[in-house]
Amino acid sequence: MIGTIHALLTGKKLSATELTRSYLDAIDRERELNCYISLTPEVALKSAEAVDLKLARSEPLQALEGVPFALKDNISTSGLLTTCASNMLEGYIPAYDAFVWERLKAQNAVLLGKANMDEFAMGSTCETSRIGAARNPHRRDYVAGGSSGGSASAVAGNLAAYSLGSDTGGSVRQPASFCGLTGLKPTYGAVSRYGLIAYASSLDQIGVITQNAEDCGTVFSAIAGFDERDMTSKKAAFAAPLERPLRIGIAHEFLDGASPDVEKAINEALKIYEKTGCEIVPVTFPLLKYALPVYYILACAEASSNLGRYDGLRYGPSAEHYGDLDDGISKIRSERFGAEVQRRILLGTYVLSSGYFDAYYKKAQNLKAAITSQLAGDILGSCDMLLTPTVPTTALKIGAGLSPVETYLTDICTVTVNITGLPALSVPCGFSNGLPIGMQLIGSPWRDYQLLDAAAKFERETDGAFLTRLDGGVRL
Ligand code: GLN
Repeated sequence: MIGTIHALLTGKKLSATELTRSYLDAIDRERELNCYISLTPEVALKSAEAVDLKLARSEPLQALEGVPFALKDNISTSGLLTTCASNMLEGYIPAYDAFVWERLKAQNAVLLGKANMDEFAMGSTCETSRIGAARNPHRRDYVAGGSSGGSASAVAGNLAAYSLGSDTGGSVRQPASFCGLTGLKPTYGAVSRYGLIAYASSLDQIGVITQNAEDCGTVFSAIAGFDERDMTSKKAAFAAPLERPLRIGIAHEFLDGASPDVEKAINEALKIYEKTGCEIVPVTFPLLKYALPVYYILACAEASSNLGRYDGLRYGPSAEHYGDLDDGISKIRSERFGAEVQRRILLGTYVLSSGYFDAYYKKAQNLKAAITSQLAGDILGSCDMLLTPTVPTTALKIGAGLSPVETYLTDICTVTVNITGLPALSVPCGFSNGLPIGMQLIGSPWRDYQLLDAAAKFERETDGAFLTRLDGGVRL
């Protein structure tokens, strides 16, 4: 997709301005998908103009120059609304750019707008957004997933050629899976979090959503890199793709809760890999059963601390009528945060409070170490990568009304990757009742490109049968 656009631009078959306008028109026609919170047509057309000027002078273009894309609404864009889909940040305009947007802007990438998401990235369906859920372009009465639901809906509906999201417990991979797209959660530290509005900092990572593995690699290489403004950013030493046949691990624990259709698609995918000469290695992951409680304790604890800044003084508007300072703070937080965000702040404050710290937070930290040693040490020590479902089911119906705990259970396959800092990729591998199924490839740190290479191999073997091209490719 991105390569095709690049070739059309450099071959002067199409101007960047024409392409941008056609995307903006399509977004206008497809408002029903609800994938954008705000649009940035002036910014988009300015980048497109710069690209057209370069083309007129026959200057070479970089890979993403002139290619229209979307940013999740928790990625800071100086001078442009960034709301995290929350009433708390209604009208908030950051004073600086996130690292990833600096990088892309410098390439004249065309920012179409800010994508819909669950409020403060907490959720799995995008339904906690202040503007409601983004729709799944495959079946519009189904969710696009969450929390980066808008980012996935936009790419699947071809209302952006690619998008960036954030992944704290699966928020890039799960919507990619629901929408039939490729979604990469990079190794922790590979992409700077500078300017990403924090949810749970030790788990948050910016990731990429695209139509295929090649595009994903192109975008990832543009945004990966060291940044001294994020103290968890690392100088990357990515491992090169493996030349020998892969050894793919499979742990039955990941399949235990999967729906029959998902299980079937995963077994088919394994057969396809086996056919290409890969070795399938059975492994066990007994500690997987602790992953969800560990994730939700750590994520809520960090969220309760990170979201302390929204008090109506530092960030967020002030309450209209209030007594003393405490009253003003609690009023604005009760009025402006949605129910799910409030639930997580309360849970997080509880597990960090002095009487319960050892029983919950400390225990979760100990289990995190044990899970890391089992997954990153034992399991990935015996194979090159692990293959799992991305989600145990296909997309849920909008308004299905799951309880919070039922919703949390859908994250079972994705959260271990954030707890351990590993890279993981969701790859389309099937369909059930018109809804896509995704498989997840999990690798050792800095093996992000090995995962992308394994996904590209799967696409070649299956002739791209599971990729999403709902309207047949480039938007003209
Ligand atoms: N569904 C998970 C949560 O609500 C993951 C969210 C995310 O990755 N941002 O915490």
